[in-house]
Amino acid sequence: MDLEFDRKHIWHPYTSTINPLHCYPVTEANGVYLKLKDGPEIVDGMSSWWSAIHGYNHPTLNTALREQSEKMSHVMFGGITHQPAIDVCKRLLQLTPSNLEQIFLADSGSVAVEVSLKMALQYWHAKGQSRPKFLTLRHGYHGDTFAAMSVTDPNNSMHSLYKGFLPEHIFADSPSVGFWEQWDESDVDDFSSKMAQHHSDIAAVILEPIVQGAGGMRLYHPTFLKRVRELCDHYGVLLIADEIATGFGRTGKLFACEHADIQPDIMCVGKALTGGYMTLAATLTTKHVADTVCGGEAGCFMHGPTFMGNPLACAVASASLDLIADGHWQQQVANIEMLFAELLPTLGDHQQVENVRWLGAIGVVETKTPVNMEVIQKHFVDHGVWIRPFGKLIYMMPPYISQPEHIQQLVSSISSALDKPECFVKS
Ligand SMILES: *Cc1c(COP(=O)(O)O)cnc(C)c1O
Repeated sequence: MDLEFDRKHIWHPYTSTINPLHCYPVTEANGVYLKLKDGPEIVDGMSSWWSAIHGYNHPTLNTALREQSEKMSHVMFGGITHQPAIDVCKRLLQLTPSNLEQIFLADSGSVAVEVSLKMALQYWHAKGQSRPKFLTLRHGYHGDTFAAMSVTDPNNSMHSLYKGFLPEHIFADSPSVGFWEQWDESDVDDFSSKMAQHHSDIAAVILEPIVQGAGGMRLYHPTFLKRVRELCDHYGVLLIADEIATGFGRTGKLFACEHADIQPDIMCVGKALTGGYMTLAATLTTKHVADTVCGGEAGCFMHGPTFMGNPLACAVASASLDLIADGHWQQQVANIEMLFAELLPTLGDHQQVENVRWLGAIGVVETKTPVNMEVIQKHFVDHGVWIRPFGKLIYMMPPYISQPEHIQQLVSSISSALDKPECFVKS
C-alpha cells in the first residue's frame, strides 16, 4: 500500500496536511477483527464509528448487498420507487416510536439532521409563524455540515471560525446528572429558563437522547429527557431526537428515547442503520408534521439528494434491521454492559482517571489530561486493539457480537495505557 501517497495527498477526518498523523493500513475486516497489512488482526472497539454493530463481513449482509447489486445498484428516487426502499421503510416503521409515520431517506447523518431542521422550519412557516431558532444542549454533536454544526457545541466545533456565516442558535447547559445517578430537578433549570424566555422564536429542540456522543460521551439522566418533552409540549415546540449514535440498541434500548418513555416529533437515524456497510440515514416524522409541511407555501418538502434511497444501501439496511428484529442484540448488549460495569470501576482509582461511565455497549474512561494521539494509538495497536480516543475521552463502542474476552482485552489495553505517562499530554 502506498502510504507515502496517502500521507502526501489524502485528507483523513480532522487531519493536518502539515503534520499528518500515522494511518494504519487495513486490508480486511471479519467479525470483530480488523486485519492490518503485514500485521496481526486487532480487536475493533469502535465499530467503525459506532456503525458495524453486527461485525464485519457478515454473511447475511454480504448476501443482501450482492443480490441487490445483481438486480440494480441505483436509480433516481424522483418519480421512481423500488422494493429495497419499501422494505427498509416498512422495517423502520415497525421498530421506531409508533407516532412516526413518514420517512425521508437521507445519505448521511449530517444530511438527516439538515433535513430535520428544514422540516421544523417549513412546519412553522406553513403555520404562518416565524420561528428562526433552535434550542439545543452544550456538548452536543449533530454533524459537520453547516446547519448541523450550528446546533453542535460552539466550542468543540469552533463556531468562532465561521462567525457571520453560521446561524446562531440557543444553547442550554448540558445535563450534569449522570444516567445512574440520583435525579436532581435543578439539572433542567437552565434549559427550562431558556425555553421560557425564547419559546416563541424556537422552531424545535434538537438533542441526542440520553447519550451525548462525539461532543463529550456524556450519559445523562432519563428524567432530563422527560422534562424536555414536557416543556416542548407545554410551549408547543417540536422535539427532534438525534438517534444517529444511539439508535438500534447501542444504549440497551432499541432507541434511547425509550429510557425516558417519550416520543419525539422528528427522529434522525443513521450510523448503524446499514450495519456499517454503506452510508444511509433517515429522518422520520409524524403525519401531522409532514402534512403541515406539505400544506405550506412550497406544497412539498424541499429536499432531494441525488443518491436518495440508494437500493444497495436500502437492501443492506433491511437485512441489518432483520438481524435487529430477531432480538439477539438485547442479550449481547446486556452482556457487554455487565462486563463494563464489572471492569471499568477497577480503573476508576487510577491517578490518571477522572471518571469512568458506561451504558449498554458504551464504555468511557475520562482522563485527567488529554491523550497523546500518536503514542496512545500505537499503544493500542501494539496491544491488539483498535480504540480511537479524542481529547480526554478513551471510549469503547464495540460490535454487539463481541465476546467477553474481546471486552476484557479492550479494557486491559486501556488499563496499561493509563500506566504509561507518554500516552498523555504533559499537564
Ligand atoms: C455521527 C453523528 C452525526 C453525523 O452523521 P454523519 O453520518 O457523520 O454525517 C449526527 N448526529 C450524531 C448524534 C452523530 O453521532
